[in-house]
Amino acid sequence: MAEYNLAIIAGDGIGIEVMEEALKVLSVLEEHENDFKLNIEKFPWNSDYYLAHGRMMPEDGLETLRNFDAILFGAIGDVRVPDNVTVWELIMPIRKQFQQYVNFRPVKTLPGISSPLRNGENIDLVIFRENSEGEYSDSGGRLFESQSTELAVQNTIMTRAGIEKITRAACEYAVSTGRKKVTSATKSNAVTHALKLWDEHVKRVVTEEFSELEFESNYIDALVAYFVQRPQSFEVVVASNLFGDILSDLGSGIVGGLGLSPSANINPERNYPSMFEPVHGSAPDIAGKGIANPIAQIWSAALMMEHLGRRDLSLKIVQAIEEVLFEKKVITADIGGNATTSQMGSAIMEKIKEQYITEKMGSLIHGTN
Ligand code: ATP
Repeated sequence: MAEYNLAIIAGDGIGIEVMEEALKVLSVLEEHENDFKLNIEKFPWNSDYYLAHGRMMPEDGLETLRNFDAILFGAIGDVRVPDNVTVWELIMPIRKQFQQYVNFRPVKTLPGISSPLRNGENIDLVIFRENSEGEYSDSGGRLFESQSTELAVQNTIMTRAGIEKITRAACEYAVSTGRKKVTSATKSNAVTHALKLWDEHVKRVVTEEFSELEFESNYIDALVAYFVQRPQSFEVVVASNLFGDILSDLGSGIVGGLGLSPSANINPERNYPSMFEPVHGSAPDIAGKGIANPIAQIWSAALMMEHLGRRDLSLKIVQAIEEVLFEKKVITADIGGNATTSQMGSAIMEKIKEQYITEKMGSLIHGTN
């Protein structure tokens, strides 16, 4: 029996609503697969938990999570709690302590979803964002607060090891999926120390260790324009924490919006659990209305199944999402319809059930089991 231990942190706002739908989808897989069991444990770590306990997770929260095979995360953010608390006391410790240094964000045109770009068809690229250092290193400080001499220093920390690791992960993915080109995002003409180190080692790793891949490096200001003008020319993009963050939201915008965009925070060595979450946040403007699009969360669960070695199940989920979008019968408000979160989740669930029925009929007709 293949058993997977999953930690579920739904978080705040629409995170709670879309997570319900992802769990519905996972339960369909469990119902229909032989020798397959999901041991799911839900953790109520969110802003309410913080207001009740004065911390985002218990003192031994990371130790608890460490024993799981993967973490499925919803979204975090609440007006009652400062962002630096919700982010730096929950998401960041998980990403950093569990060495999830790869943030993997696919950007793909989906059937039935029109891009806001005139030439927005057939986009299929993947962003590898460095996820543990760089501009988001929380290093620096403030002096002379509230005085006219007030100043702040924010350090960007780039390490050769960190740059090499994210570049290798991007290249290995490119090679294993038959992609031919890796593009690096930089701005070393202005950020002359950290990003020169970035340039040097990204280029060295790609050209010396993956000579079968084509390599290009673009300044980030030009790259954002190219993302709009010719997104089809990119296959795998490797970027620092900040640049990768911005490119991912842009990427998500050009293929239909945040409600459709999944992400994975991966520890490639598998020494720690990896974490899967939608790109979007808690969306306080629509939270509680039951209208959020659950696709980004459900697709994140698909990325999780793939990471756990169940590419077959991941493909089932993604195929179901594509079928529902192609049919255009159940469409949430963010992509031009009026279906509820739950109706979208159920539609995807039904498509997965249909896949199992088709498989079963096929095996009956062909006499296999
Ligand atoms: P947070 O502070 O938690 O990051 P936010 O509102 O700043 O929240 P997002 O949650 O990412 O940022 O939302 C940005 C916009 O996209 C909002 O208008 C939100 O309603 C919309 N949005 C995000 N996710 C979804 C979704 N799953 N379905 C529909 N709309 C969404």
